[in-house]
Amino acid sequence: MKTYLIDLDGTMYKGNTIIDGALDFLQRIREHGDRYLFLTNNATRTGKQNVEHMEKLGFYGLNPEDFFTSSMAAARYIAKKSSKRNAFFVGKDGLREALLDSGFTITDKDVDFVFVGLDKDGSYQTYSYALKFLLNGAKLVGTNSDRLLAKDDGFNIGNGSIVAMFEYATGQESEKIGKPYQPILDEVLEYASITKEEAILVGDNLETEIKLGVDFGVKTIFVTSGVHDRKDIERLKIIPNQVVNSLNDIEM
Ligand SMILES: [Mg+2]
Repeated sequence: MKTYLIDLDGTMYKGNTIIDGALDFLQRIREHGDRYLFLTNNATRTGKQNVEHMEKLGFYGLNPEDFFTSSMAAARYIAKKSSKRNAFFVGKDGLREALLDSGFTITDKDVDFVFVGLDKDGSYQTYSYALKFLLNGAKLVGTNSDRLLAKDDGFNIGNGSIVAMFEYATGQESEKIGKPYQPILDEVLEYASITKEEAILVGDNLETEIKLGVDFGVKTIFVTSGVHDRKDIERLKIIPNQVVNSLNDIEM
């Protein structure tokens, strides 16, 4: 049995539109007796919120457990590395839930870690408040390093840019967790109880999920429905195992 680790944005949907072939792809995986998990750097939503968001777009039969986010990876990874559990965070429900699930206490007293997972309502005041803990010795943990966040008509500032701001302000380097870094791969394999030989990474971004697979020996399928196209393969020198124009072209 194979487990497809499928990216969301640019692979399953784009903005508020389902990508052609996405529904069929999931159905074909189910019918073939294989399994899928959504593996996303988006740290903001809980599993339940991800289900709601996708069902609004027309997906069906999804469960909160089908989603593994960079928030979950960050919380699980840091909880293994350290016995300290006082966390402050800049982020949304997805990060809050992941921290609580991994046994962290969310507090602004004796803060050990400042997790940063994108808060679109973040302000100069909230960032400066978080900065105080970092300057007092708390460790910076960015959930993911995405510079940009795609939207319907261009881009927004991505979480990695916010993390870089904290790095610059404090001179402290963040942990690297999300795709293309190893922690999210190790954590999702453990979450899914699979080996990397049983996994296939599927996504539209050569620099995140495809690089993750290439660097750590997981099979990759690159679909050109999102941020990158075929000519980017040569430019970036990141070579997927398989390239398809559409999820419809993936044979089980
Ligand atoms: Mg994507």
